[in-house]
Amino acid sequence: MKPVGLLTLQGDYEKHRQAFAALGHPTRNVRRPNELDDVSCLVIPGGESTTLSRLIDRTGLREPLREFAASHPVMGTCAGLIMMARELDGEAPADFGVAPLGLLDCTVRRNGYGRQIDSFTAEVAAGPLLGDDDPFSAVFIRAPRIVDVGPAAEVVADLDGEPVAVRSGSLLGLTFHPELTDDLRIQRAFLDLV
Ligand code: GLN
Repeated sequence: MKPVGLLTLQGDYEKHRQAFAALGHPTRNVRRPNELDDVSCLVIPGGESTTLSRLIDRTGLREPLREFAASHPVMGTCAGLIMMARELDGEAPADFGVAPLGLLDCTVRRNGYGRQIDSFTAEVAAGPLLGDDDPFSAVFIRAPRIVDVGPAAEVVADLDGEPVAVRSGSLLGLTFHPELTDDLRIQRAFLDLV
C-alpha cells in the first residue's frame, strides 16, 4: 500500500503523522498536485479553513483534490471537514471567502460551538464508524457544526444526537480532532476504507 497522504499546506498535520506512525503506517506530505500520485489516501487536517482554502487555490490543488477524492479515501478533520463540505451555512459570521471542495453532502457552520475559549472534549457515540459502542473521547477546537446532512452522506458519529462525523463512501469528515488523543480507532477505521 502506498503511504497515507497528508495535506501539509497548513494546520496540525504533524499530529496526524504521529498517529499513523503509531499504527505502523508511513505518511507522505502532499503540497502539490503531482504528489497525489504517490499516496493511497489523504488526510486534510484541522487548522484554519480560510488559509487552507486560499492555499489550495494558490497551489493549483483544487481540481486535483476533487479528482483524487472521486477514487480514493479522504478524511477531513475540523477545518478539513469544512473544506470537504458541500456548502457553508449562510448564517455564519463572515466566512472570509472559504470555498469548500464539495466532496461531502453536508452543510457546516464554521466555529459553530463558539470561539477558541469554548473548545471542549466530549464523549461521542461513533458506533457506525468504529463498529463498537465504546464512546470516543473527542476534542473540539473552534469546531464547525454540521447543520444539515444530505441524502448522499451518512451520519457516523453524534454528540447528544447532533452529527459530528459524516461519511459518503470512503470520504469521511469529522468536526473534532482524533489525532489529539491516544485512541487510534478512528485512524484504524479510516485505514479500513483504503
Ligand atoms: N475554526 C477553524 C476554521 O474555521 C477550524 C478550527 C480547527 O480546525 N480546529 O477553519
